[in-house]
Amino acid sequence: MSGLHRGDPCAAENGWETAVNDTCTHLDEVVEVQPSSTGCEDCLRIGGRWLHLRMCMSCGHVGCCDSSPNRHATAHFHADHHPIIQSYEPGEEWWYCYLDDFAFELDGAPSFSHP
Ligand SMILES: [Zn+2]
Ligand SMILES: [Zn+2]
Ligand SMILES: [Zn+2]
Repeated sequence: MSGLHRGDPCAAENGWETAVNDTCTHLDEVVEVQPSSTGCEDCLRIGGRWLHLRMCMSCGHVGCCDSSPNRHATAHFHADHHPIIQSYEPGEEWWYCYLDDFAFELDGAPSFSHP
């Protein structure tokens, strides 16, 4: 798996610095997606607030991070079992796999950020 290397995730998010795996075997779950929203779609629906945004690389669901009150990105993983998200923050390129608890960056991968 060339081009896969450990990223530099936000250290504030729970447990990421204690990742147990050093690779992700779920990249075949990643498809060509378009972000579903420019904000957390679930927070927008309930009038909630978010801190940072994550985008699901299996369906384009945009959800809020684990530092946000509602943690919709993680909730989406538990509901739909889509393992891989990418940061949706401007200037952040890292990806994260929930199943492997592994953060990484992908050379040459499409990068998204909300306006
Ligand atoms: Zn994985
Ligand atoms: Zn949210
Ligand atoms: Zn998804």
